Amino acid sequence: MTVTTAGRLISDLDDLPFDNRFTRDMPADVDDRNVRRQVDGAAFSRVAPTPVAAPKTIAWSAEVVDLLGMQPDLPRTEDFAQVFGGNRVPVGADPFAMAYGGHQFGSWAGQLGDGRAIALGEVIDRTGSHQMLQLKGAGPTPYSRTADGRAVLRSSVREFLCSEAMFHLGIPTTRALSLVTTGEQVVRDILYSGNPAPEPGAIVCRVAPSFTRFGTFQLPASRGDVELLERLVRVTVAHNFSHLDVPDRPLSDLLGAWLGEVAESTAALVVDWMRVGFVHGVLNTDNLSILGLTIDYGPYGWLEDWDPMWTPNTTDASGRRYRYGMQPQVAHWNLVQLANALVPLVGEDVAPLQEAVDRYPVAYEAAYRSMMARRLGWGDHRPGDDEPIEDLSRVLRSSEIDQVIFFRDLADVPVDPNLDVSDDGLLAPLTGAWYRPEEISGEVAAEICTWLRVWRRRVADGGLTDAERTTAMDSLNPRYVLRNYLAQEVIDQAESGDTSGITDILDVLRRPYEDQTGRDRFSARRPEWARHRVGCSMLSCSS
Ligand code: AMP
Ligand code: MG
Repeated sequence: MTVTTAGRLISDLDDLPFDNRFTRDMPADVDDRNVRRQVDGAAFSRVAPTPVAAPKTIAWSAEVVDLLGMQPDLPRTEDFAQVFGGNRVPVGADPFAMAYGGHQFGSWAGQLGDGRAIALGEVIDRTGSHQMLQLKGAGPTPYSRTADGRAVLRSSVREFLCSEAMFHLGIPTTRALSLVTTGEQVVRDILYSGNPAPEPGAIVCRVAPSFTRFGTFQLPASRGDVELLERLVRVTVAHNFSHLDVPDRPLSDLLGAWLGEVAESTAALVVDWMRVGFVHGVLNTDNLSILGLTIDYGPYGWLEDWDPMWTPNTTDASGRRYRYGMQPQVAHWNLVQLANALVPLVGEDVAPLQEAVDRYPVAYEAAYRSMMARRLGWGDHRPGDDEPIEDLSRVLRSSEIDQVIFFRDLADVPVDPNLDVSDDGLLAPLTGAWYRPEEISGEVAAEICTWLRVWRRRVADGGLTDAERTTAMDSLNPRYVLRNYLAQEVIDQAESGDTSGITDILDVLRRPYEDQTGRDRFSARRPEWARHRVGCSMLSCSS
C-alpha cells in the first residue's frame, strides 16, 4: 500500500501516489527490447514513451484532475505537458504496454496489444481507488505491428471529448485526463483511399481502474497457455472484483460468478448506448472492457435519425456488423468468445460459463424494457408496453426524425387525459425533430399521432405526477450529445490552431440532461452540409 495525499492537493507530479499493482502482480515480458514481436507468457511489456518535439496541453478534464487529487492549475504547467506528452516519466511510474488479442470483425486476429498506448502505472485517486494512467499515442511498443505508435489530433479530440461526455451522461467509460499536442506530424490516409497526408499528432491520457479487455484472456487461451490464463483471471478478480475473491472458492464457481458479472455489466452498458444513440463502431473483442466500460473511442458516432442500420465506420460499411441495431447481439457474441477462452480452465464442466453468458440476454432484455418505459414517462415497465415500444421504432423510421430531439421533446407533448388535443396540438412540441419539416403531414403525421395517443393513455395510467414524469424523462433523454458534426467543427478549428472550441463544447456536455440557455446551437439538428462529410457521417479506423 501507499500513503495517499489525503487533504493535500498534488502540485508536483513526482508526488503522484503510484501503486503499480498490475506490473507487480502480473507476469512481465522477460525481453526488454522495444521491437515489434510476439510476446509469449506475459501480460505486459515494460516500455517507455518515446519523447515528442514540443508537447503542449490543449485541454484537460477538471473533474479528472480533481479525482486524481491534482491542483486545479497543474495542467497549465510545462511539466504537466512534459509528463502527459510522454517526455518525462514521473517518480513512481513503471511504464508498460499490455498484451492482448482479439476477434476483429468476427475473425481471430491473434496478438494485438497496446500498439500505441503506454500506461504510466496506477495511482490512488481521492476515493482510494486505483486508476491506471495511460498515454494513447505515446510511441511504438512491442505490440505496434506495422503501425507507428502515434495518434492524430482529430482522433484524440474525439476520444478526449467523448470519454468525458459519456461520463457526464452517467454511462460507464474510461476517462480522459488530458489532451496534449506533440508538435510532430503523423501521416495518415483518412479514408484508406490512397491519399496519405501529414496531420498534427496528439496524446490523450486515458484513466480507468483497468484497461483489461475480453481479448486479454483470449490471447493466452489461443496459445494454450493455461497457466497465464488462470493467473490473469485470478489477478483481475483480486484487483477489480475483490468481492468475488472468497478463499478456497472452486475455480469454476469463481469463473461463473465473475463472467456473470461481466455479462451483466456489459448488458447494462449496451442498454445505455442504445438509449443515447451511441454507436461504438468497432466492437471487436479487444474493445470490450472487462469492467463494462466504454473503451477505445475510434470511428464511433451518434445516431441522428432513428436508423438501426446506421454505422459511422466506413471500414464496416459493407457488412455493417457494428451498426446501431446490432450492438446488443454483437456484445453477446463477444461474451461467448470470452467464455470460450475460459473453457480450458474448467475442462468438461462448461455449465457455469454457459449460465453466466446466458445471463446477458436476460439482463439486456429486462434493462432495455425498463429503460424504454422510464424514458417514455411510463414508470415501471408492464407486459403490455412491448407493443407500443416496438411501434415507436417503426413510427420513428417513417421519415427522417432526429431521435435525440424527439425523445427529449416528447416530455412536452400534452398528456392531460381530460383535454381533447388536436393532432396539431400533439405534434407542435415535436416539430423540431424533423429533418424535413414538410414531411410532417399525411400518413406520417397520422401514424405519429396514433402512436402519441396510445402513449398518452399509458402515461395517464402510469400514475406519475406531471413533475415526476417530466423529471424522469429528462433524466434519461439528454438534450446534448456529442453530435458528429459538432465534434468535427471543433476538430477543424483545432487543426487551424484555435482549441477554444474543445473547452466550450466540453462545458455544454457537462450537463447533458439540463436545458442550457443560449446553447441551442449544441442541440440543433445536423445541418445539411454535414450529411455526407468526412468526419461527420463517414469515419474510418484510421486514427
Ligand atoms: P483499434 O482499432 O484502435 O482497437 O486498434 C487495434 C490494434 O491496433 C490495437 O492493438 C492497437 O494498439 C493497434 N494500433 C492502432 N493504431 C495504431 C498505431 N498508430 N500504432 C500502433 N498500433 C496501433
Ligand atoms: Mg482497440
